[in-house]
Amino acid sequence: MAAAARAPPRLLQFKLVLLGESAVGKSSLVLRFVKDQFDDYRESTIGAAFLTQTVSLDESTTVKFEIWDTAGQERYKSLAPMYYRNANCAVVVYDITQPSSLEKAKAWIRELQRQADPNIIIALAGNKADLASRRAVPSEEAQAYASEENLLFLETSAKDNANVSELFTMIARKLPLESAANAQ
Ligand code: GDP
Repeated sequence: MAAAARAPPRLLQFKLVLLGESAVGKSSLVLRFVKDQFDDYRESTIGAAFLTQTVSLDESTTVKFEIWDTAGQERYKSLAPMYYRNANCAVVVYDITQPSSLEKAKAWIRELQRQADPNIIIALAGNKADLASRRAVPSEEAQAYASEENLLFLETSAKDNANVSELFTMIARKLPLESAANAQ
């Protein structure tokens, strides 16, 4: 008997935006995820960076992230809606050594909850987890906030490559795959 024909693999594309205070490590997380690199001395990029990376969910489905890094422009508040308009998912980053960066992340999350697509998937990332001796935001505090707001949450280190691919995979698993367009 002939084997049943297999459906062709799906490549589904989603827009992902990064938000958060300057210098929390947004670009570093993208660089780690897309190129598996880290640069201690990197200077903030000027202008929007735009990269893509894929995550294989199983043998029939691959998610392609179109990643928008605001690259410093988050300081110009009025530009932000341009980034998160039509975004399927957002990673809001803070630095575990800077409590004020968590407050800033919360402000971004409130803005996304008010203004972005109501189905947007939001992940909170506590970056620079390698700087344990300088930790100033307890994991439990951020985790409790994320649970209350129904956000995905992970602590990451772009430097040590900790939980970076896990962060993006966790988001990919929450995406509404059935309603997505096939990417080229
Ligand atoms: P952005 O402005 O949010 O995009 O932040 P950058 O990616 O430019 O990073 C700001 C600074 O933090 C740079 O000096 C990075 O090398 C550093 N950095 C980023 N991620 C980490 C991390 O996970 N651990 C440590 N120790 N430093 C990091």
